[in-house]
Amino acid sequence: MSGLDIPETVDANDVAEYTDDVDVLVLGAGIGGCCAAVEAAAAGASVIVLERSAAAGGTSCMAGGHFYLGGGTAVQQATGHEDSADEMVKYLTAVSRDPEPDKIRAYCDDSVEHFGWLENLGFEFERSYYPEKAVIQPQTQGLMFTGNEKVWPYKDQAIPAPRGHKVPVPGDTGGAGMVIGLLVDRLGELGVPIRYEVGGRALIVDDSGAVVGARFKDGATEGFIKAKSVIIAAGGFVMNPDMVAEYVPQLAEKPFTLGSTYDDGLGIRMGVSVGAKLKHMDQAFITAPVYPPSILLTGLAVNKEGKRFVAEDSYHSRTSGFVMDQTDRSAYLIVDEAHMQRPEFPLCPFIDGWETVEEMADGLGLDRDTLVSTLDRYNTYAANGEDPDFHKSPEFLAPQDRGPWAAFDMSLGKALYAGFTIGGMATTVDGAVLHEDGSVIPGLYAAGACAANLAQDGKGYASGTQLGEGSYFGRRAGASAAAHI
Ligand SMILES: Cc1cc2nc3c(=O)[nH]c(=O)nc-3n(C[C@H](O)[C@H](O)[C@H](O)COP(=O)(O)OP(=O)(O)OC[C@H]3O[C@@H](n4cnc5c(N)ncnc54)[C@H](O)[C@@H]3O)c2cc1C
Repeated sequence: MSGLDIPETVDANDVAEYTDDVDVLVLGAGIGGCCAAVEAAAAGASVIVLERSAAAGGTSCMAGGHFYLGGGTAVQQATGHEDSADEMVKYLTAVSRDPEPDKIRAYCDDSVEHFGWLENLGFEFERSYYPEKAVIQPQTQGLMFTGNEKVWPYKDQAIPAPRGHKVPVPGDTGGAGMVIGLLVDRLGELGVPIRYEVGGRALIVDDSGAVVGARFKDGATEGFIKAKSVIIAAGGFVMNPDMVAEYVPQLAEKPFTLGSTYDDGLGIRMGVSVGAKLKHMDQAFITAPVYPPSILLTGLAVNKEGKRFVAEDSYHSRTSGFVMDQTDRSAYLIVDEAHMQRPEFPLCPFIDGWETVEEMADGLGLDRDTLVSTLDRYNTYAANGEDPDFHKSPEFLAPQDRGPWAAFDMSLGKALYAGFTIGGMATTVDGAVLHEDGSVIPGLYAAGACAANLAQDGKGYASGTQLGEGSYFGRRAGASAAAHI
C-alpha cells in the first residue's frame, strides 16, 4: 500500500468470524489512545487497545512533556500567576486560524479538572516557575510561558498567563513517557489489554454505514474485532513522505521530521475510507529556535529585502512560520556586539561578523540603504523601549548600534528546521468523527494528532497543546464512546 492509499473498508456481512467483541476498540496507545481507553473503561465499557509497535507511547514518548493547562491550576496559583478560563478562551480563540468555540470553551472550563485528572495518575507538576524565555524548562520547574501570550497582538487580546505545565522530568525530550507509563499502569488496573505489535488496518462498516469494528494485522495473521465504537488514535503523518509531499510540501523540502515510525497517517486514511472530513492538513509545526539565550531576541530578524517581518520575541514556531512566508524562505537575525552570544543550540548557524552595517549588507546580499534604514528605525524606537512596527515587548528591545554586527542564518536549508504535521480528522467536541457534510460518522471517534482540535498551525501553536488536547479530547472521546454501550 503506497503512502497515499486509502484502505478499503470491510463489509460486516463478509466477516465470518471475530476474534473479540468489545464495546470500545482503540487503535494506538499514545497519549490520545491511552486517555480514551482509561475513560471508556472507567465508564464501564469493555475495551481493547491495539498498538502497532512493541511498546506504548509512540510520539508521545518523545515529547518534552508540556501540557497546556490554565484557568487557575495549582501550579499557577502556587507561583502567583492569575489566570481564568475566560482569559484562556480569549487567548486560544485569538491564536486559532479557525476557532472551534465549543472545543475551546470546554478545554478551558475543564482545564483545572483535567490538571487534577493527570496528577491523579500518580505524579505532581512541580509548584515552581521558570521565568526565562526558553523552548522548554531545562529542569523540572512546573510552569513557563510556552506560547505567544506576551506577544503582540495577543497580549492586547487576553491577559497573558503562563500555561506550559511540564511534567517533573528534567531535560527537553522524553518527559511525557512518564505519563504514558502511568496510563499503561492505570489500564492494567482497569483490566484493559493492550495488544502490542498488532495494527488496525481497515474499518468494518455495516449496512447503515456505521463503523462496527476493525480488521487487524498481527504479524503474518489477520483478524477482525467487533466493536460498538472504534477510536482512532494512531498519531500524525509526518513520517509518510507521500502524504507530507501532498499536504505540507514546506515540510517535505528540508526540515528534519519529528515523529515516531508509525506516524504514517494510516489512522487518518482509515478515517477517509469512511468519508471523514480532514482539517488543517496543509499546516505544520516547523521550527528552528534562535533562543536561548534570550538576549538574541533583542536583535532584528530581516528578510532578503532587508526588512523586519515579525516580532522577534514571538514563540519560536511563530517566528519560523513567518520565515516560511518570506522570499526564498530566507531570513537573518542581526545583533550588535553588545548583544551577541552564541545560541545554546546552534540551530540557526552563525554566518559572520562585520565592522559596519554596509559591509554586513554586502555580506548578506542585502540592499545597503534598506538595511541601514531598517536598523536606524529600529534603534531609534528601541532606545525609548518602543516598537511601533511589531510591538515587541520592552524587555526584548535594545538598540543594536555598537558594531561589529553579527548575523545568524534563519533560512530554510541553512537553519536546522524540524517539524511535525498538525492536520487531522474533523471531530465534535466529544471526538466523534465528522463527514464532509458535517454529520457524525456513527461508531467512529478520533483523538490525538490524527484529529484536528486546538493546534491548527505553527504560527498560533503553543507548546503543550498537543499533549493537552490529545489527553483531554481523548478522555472525552473515550467517555462518549462508552456512553453508547
Ligand atoms: C520531539 C518532540 C517533542 C514534543 N514535545 C511536545 C510537548 O512537550 N508538548 C506537546 O503538547 N506536544 C509535544 N510534541 C507533540 C506531541 O508529542 C504529539 O503531537 C503527541 O504525542 C501525539 O499523540 P498521539 O497519541 O496522537 O500519537 P502517538 O503518541 O504517536 O500515539 C499513536 C500510537 O498509535 C500507534 N499506531 C499507529 N498506527 C496504528 C494502527 N494502525 N493501529 C494501532 N496502533 C497504531 C503508534 O505506534 C503510536 O504508538 C512533541 C513532539 C516531538 C516529536
